[in-house]
Amino acid sequence: MKLFEIITLFPQAFPGTLDFSIFKKSRGKCWNLRVHDMREFGIGRHKQVDDEVFGGSAGMLIRPDVIDCAMQHIINRRAKNNINKITESNINSPTERQFTRKLRKVFLSPRGRLMDQSLVETWANEESDMLLLCGRYEGVDARAIEHFEFEEISIGNYILAGAEVAAMVMMESIVRKIPGVIGNAESFAKETFVDNEVSEPRYTRPAVWETHDGNSISVPQIIVSGDHKKIAEFQKSGRKKVEL
Ligand code: SAM
Repeated sequence: MKLFEIITLFPQAFPGTLDFSIFKKSRGKCWNLRVHDMREFGIGRHKQVDDEVFGGSAGMLIRPDVIDCAMQHIINRRAKNNINKITESNINSPTERQFTRKLRKVFLSPRGRLMDQSLVETWANEESDMLLLCGRYEGVDARAIEHFEFEEISIGNYILAGAEVAAMVMMESIVRKIPGVIGNAESFAKETFVDNEVSEPRYTRPAVWETHDGNSISVPQIIVSGDHKKIAEFQKSGRKKVEL
């Protein structure tokens, strides 16, 4: 079971969209998440997590010592779980394996490598948990990213106010590809990005749609013709190469 460890200043943002439908049903069976409130690792009475940027840049940065405390907490907890779980009798059990899994450490950042479907599939299929560090303000002190060897991953070439939504995007795309989460894996076969193509336009009932503004819009006749060969050709012609 893949475990997502999330470090965030806004723990209430989770599980968010992952609390619905297939994600809710599969949580605890195929995947799970554990949210760590960054504020708890803040400095002093006020639990300060950020400070001014050296060199005169505007805004605030998350301090490396705060990330250090959060990381120690997570590492110690995983190690403790591991020790508790390993006994002679369960040394090779799935539960025990869960706590000896590798931890892929990701800092969500617009400076990072752009996430794409092939990365998503690699992560969904690998036997490792994921730690997602959510930045806020102007981001996180660069030493923490380097010291803990975070991979920097961006979800797109635009700037969000914080990484909570980005973490949700990342988890949603990964979790749906974890074996067992979506019952009918056939639905993956022709979806966009398979073979570097976008999926063809698709249609459902009614075959003739009478719109409220008085139009009558039919599906392409071929799709309801029953001629499987022609339908397959039509669908193929609707799939286009992905333009990156
Ligand atoms: N000052 C930073 C810069 O210019 O690169 C932007 C900081 S942004 C306001 C705050 C945080 O939101 C970032 O540290 C990052 O964790 C998250 N974030 C913003 N845009 C993102 C994106 N496209 N992908 C992933 N995370 C993003």
